[in-house]
Amino acid sequence: MARRPLIAGNWKMHGGRADLDKLRMIREATRRRICETTDVLVCPPATLLAHAFEALEPKVAVGGQDCHFAASGPYTGSISAPMLADSGARYVILGHSERRSGCGEDDALVARKVAAAWSAGLVAIVCVGETEAEHAAGRTLAVLREELTGSLPSGATGDNTVIAYEPIWAIGAGRTPTPDEIEKIHHAMREHLSHRIGEPAARAVRLLYGGSVKPENAGEILAIRNVDGALVGGASLNAEDFIAICRSVPEPAAAPPRGGLE
Ligand code: PEP
Repeated sequence: MARRPLIAGNWKMHGGRADLDKLRMIREATRRRICETTDVLVCPPATLLAHAFEALEPKVAVGGQDCHFAASGPYTGSISAPMLADSGARYVILGHSERRSGCGEDDALVARKVAAAWSAGLVAIVCVGETEAEHAAGRTLAVLREELTGSLPSGATGDNTVIAYEPIWAIGAGRTPTPDEIEKIHHAMREHLSHRIGEPAARAVRLLYGGSVKPENAGEILAIRNVDGALVGGASLNAEDFIAICRSVPEPAAAPPRGGLE
């Protein structure tokens, strides 16, 4: 079964209404050929969600960058998954390393948030990735297995879950793993998912790569087997760069084999 590529932009804590023109540019540039074959998503700050929905939907999707595990309640400053859905969001990024390290989020909390996202009908983009020290110590696969096990409640399917492999040392650093490393890691993640949720569901879950994806390296990264798209931080703030990354998705006919676990 072919997985539909997903290019997701994470604006993080950047952007205001003056940036909505960027979204209109993205919508115009992607709505024909690109959106026929690829899912395009922008996750702006929460203050822009409703504006982004107006500017982008229905062809380009809008997503949140985090949500609370509760549907509502006395949680000042937090946003719930049903609120995101109400604003028009279809996806939510969860377990980003900046929240794991900066806000003390552990796997158990991420798993509660994923369950909340599913209950609200959102697709959870669950981020996993190793630190530079873990990478140097050869612990990458062990860390990813631990994070996937802890952060995914039971019930993950290709419809409700996307996994983003984001090596922490590559985020915003201008460095990436080699294509060979990315291929091995994505293969291992799919094998792990296969044991965890069964092969049919594991085959359907999209695995994104994130960490310093730019127009210059997107073509090479997106052509790697088992890479079903990209989570893009810095480069998504520049509409032309983000559009160029969307254009780098291989044509379906030229895409690498998608069916197997390898
Ligand atoms: C991210 O933070 O999700 C990310 C991938 O950032 P960047 O593309 O800037 O490395």
